[in-house]
Amino acid sequence: MNYDLILVRYGELTLKKKNRKMFIGKLVSQIEQALEGKSVVVRANRDRMYIELDNEDAYDIIDRLKHINGILSMSPIIRLRKSEDEMKRVALELESTFNKDDTFKVEVKRVDKSFHLKTHDIQQLIGGYVVRETNRPVNIKQPDHTIMIEVRFEGVYMYSEVFEGNGGLPLGTGGKTVLMLSGGIDSPVAGFEIMKRGIEVEAIHYFSPPYTSERSLEKVKKLVDIMAEKTGVSIKMHIVPFTKIQTAIYDKIPDGYSMTTTRRVMLIIAERLAKSIGAEAIVNGENIGQVASQTLTSMNTINQVTNFPVLRPLLTYEKNEIIQKSMYYGTYETSILPYEDCCTIFKPKKPKTQPNLENVEKYESNIDFEPFIEEALKDIEIYHSNSEEKNSKFSDLL
Ligand code: ATP
Ligand code: MG
Repeated sequence: MNYDLILVRYGELTLKKKNRKMFIGKLVSQIEQALEGKSVVVRANRDRMYIELDNEDAYDIIDRLKHINGILSMSPIIRLRKSEDEMKRVALELESTFNKDDTFKVEVKRVDKSFHLKTHDIQQLIGGYVVRETNRPVNIKQPDHTIMIEVRFEGVYMYSEVFEGNGGLPLGTGGKTVLMLSGGIDSPVAGFEIMKRGIEVEAIHYFSPPYTSERSLEKVKKLVDIMAEKTGVSIKMHIVPFTKIQTAIYDKIPDGYSMTTTRRVMLIIAERLAKSIGAEAIVNGENIGQVASQTLTSMNTINQVTNFPVLRPLLTYEKNEIIQKSMYYGTYETSILPYEDCCTIFKPKKPKTQPNLENVEKYESNIDFEPFIEEALKDIEIYHSNSEEKNSKFSDLL
């Protein structure tokens, strides 16, 4: 079928009275970015948005907008003249896409009150016609399909399909955070979840060459690219050289506590970066009880280094739910590539599940972390999503 438009229904932003204009503006720019290169025109008004399709495939466009935050649902629309015959013709066309014994009904929205037929008359006319022509059963209460007819000033819009959007709020309407991004399954999902609330992220990745390879870094860059592409924004990643810190921890901190200290230093660095870029919280993929560093005691001991908010969108999810989401967002296949991340290499044999704060502080007093932290922050490399620049200076170190 040849569709002329896509109707985009807004999500929760309809609740935000005062900021509505700004919300809609952000949504338009993300949609335009996600549809770059496509021959479309985006027309937004207060209550809904239309995307004019210049011979583009409606389903391809809908697929590209599936992960844009702030979209409640989308429908591909056929636009026709305000004529009874045209409505009948299109109704049969839509009907022909339904499965054999499925039920249907006709629903009418009459915005143009000057149209010569009333809502009920249109329903009767078109519904009756489809039944006569096709024998399709009607079900008013719970139809399998609804043929929607909207009589508007500029013409009649007809459709029968509604595709769910990602919901949430448009990105960039809720401030900024630093996302701790490893190459695993969890942290990209945490990123998507936080972005769903309209919050922008800049990623931070701790990189320990040569213990972690260029390929593992490429994998994290790929995750950033996927997140950016799906959500229709550009994402920056700060790559922190972490080798010296990891080596110092490995040498000086007892095995059982090294993970705790590593996490603590990561948090200190994330907080400093956050403050320098105007981010108001840190986000990570922690999940309560998943591993030794994510018991309540561990989280408490780790968190003592900061009073900056640390948001954990996956805190209570089942691993299975996280995997499902990762598949939905499209990061799963990349996340499960086998390249090691920095913590796998330095993984302690028996990490403490109940690390005691006093002990941690005592061990850490053997290392002066401050110069290491300053150096790491100074040597941060930036990666921009979907940029060609894949040869950072790290490749020279390998
Ligand atoms: P994932 O690796 O997908 O995040 P995980 O269960 O392997 O999940 P951990 O390795 O225990 O998680 O790490 C917990 C969190 O710490 C991660 O979700 C991530 O936010 C952060 N993190 C771990 N390693 C790094 C890293 N090298 N760079 C940035 N953040 C990291
Ligand atoms: Mg991990």
